[in-house]
Amino acid sequence: MEDKISIKSLLPQELEALLADMGEPKYRAKQIFKWLHQGVTSFDEMSDISKALRAKLEEKCFITKPEILRKQVSQLDGTIKYLFGLSDGNSIETVLMKYEHGNSICLSTQAGCKMGCVFCASFDPAKSRNLTPAEILDEILFAQKDSGRKVSNIVLMGTGEPLDNYDNVIQFLKLVSHPDGVNIGMRHISLSTCGLVPKIDELAQLKLQLTLSISLHAPINEIRSKIMPVNRRYSLDELIPACRRYFKTTGRRISFEYAMIRDVTDTKECARELIRMLKGFNCHVNLIPLNHVEGSPLVPSTKENLRWFQNELIRNGLNATVRRSLGGDISASCGQLRRQRNKEVSQ
Ligand code: SAH
Repeated sequence: MEDKISIKSLLPQELEALLADMGEPKYRAKQIFKWLHQGVTSFDEMSDISKALRAKLEEKCFITKPEILRKQVSQLDGTIKYLFGLSDGNSIETVLMKYEHGNSICLSTQAGCKMGCVFCASFDPAKSRNLTPAEILDEILFAQKDSGRKVSNIVLMGTGEPLDNYDNVIQFLKLVSHPDGVNIGMRHISLSTCGLVPKIDELAQLKLQLTLSISLHAPINEIRSKIMPVNRRYSLDELIPACRRYFKTTGRRISFEYAMIRDVTDTKECARELIRMLKGFNCHVNLIPLNHVEGSPLVPSTKENLRWFQNELIRNGLNATVRRSLGGDISASCGQLRRQRNKEVSQ
């Protein structure tokens, strides 16, 4: 399969070029693109494409097709969590959530993450690899197909660091927002990063209408470096100015994710520093009650402290909300299902 082209990773103009190389008319590209984005798993399903062309495509290209290894449905709120198996035996998690305004999907961008944030279950450098644009798109196509629910919002907040897989993620964004495909506009997409500064600057230049989320989690370098190794490379002194540049270039308000970890990030000192750091910056702070990960010494803040922290930020002029937690009964967060399976498989 290696020498074949992953056809679902191609944009219509790239499909046109491929068809031209094969001596075929360009207009077929649109038909093929539409079929692929409806989630067909073989060229034979493309009923308005001639048998001869289907055979030629088959020879040169392949269509990715993830397998549903596991599926958990929350009895509380209908959240569905999928564990998809990829062609090389690796696996990824995808979470489909119901909101009043539609269905949101949380996508993985890498199989296993290399960043090593201590509170996160997705760290798996040994098995880490970038997902291709087609594989990221497949998470939507096959979750939709299986659930019968139409996805309206996308968050790139599953396993992986999207900006560490920059080119494939950008290509995915172009694919998913294309009018002939799934057609989800940039304004309905959020991309979350732990703070790869040069890539934030690169992304700014594209001036996309998506929402950039920064996993901030601590406003003091010493604390942030302990819980997020990336801070040793790009400290807050570089990250915050990059966020300001991003806002200036794109005009898009940044959302800061802030995990409330008891006695680590939820202290008075942290509140004070966070306020000092973001005062006057047109942004949004999203407080996340820490999800406890098995074996981790880190524990969530108390409800009282969470409220206190939020009120403190609001009182000082920051825009702060608390993230609603969904799928609490199916461990629907941050690499936990994948981790469980990898453990079982290696036993
Ligand atoms: N690598 C990207 C995308 C992952 S997004 C990033 O770091 O932003 C997943 C979000 O959930 C990030 O904000 C991450 O820091 C946060 N997260 C990970 N583990 C968590 C946990 N146990 N509790 C709460 N939030 C967590």
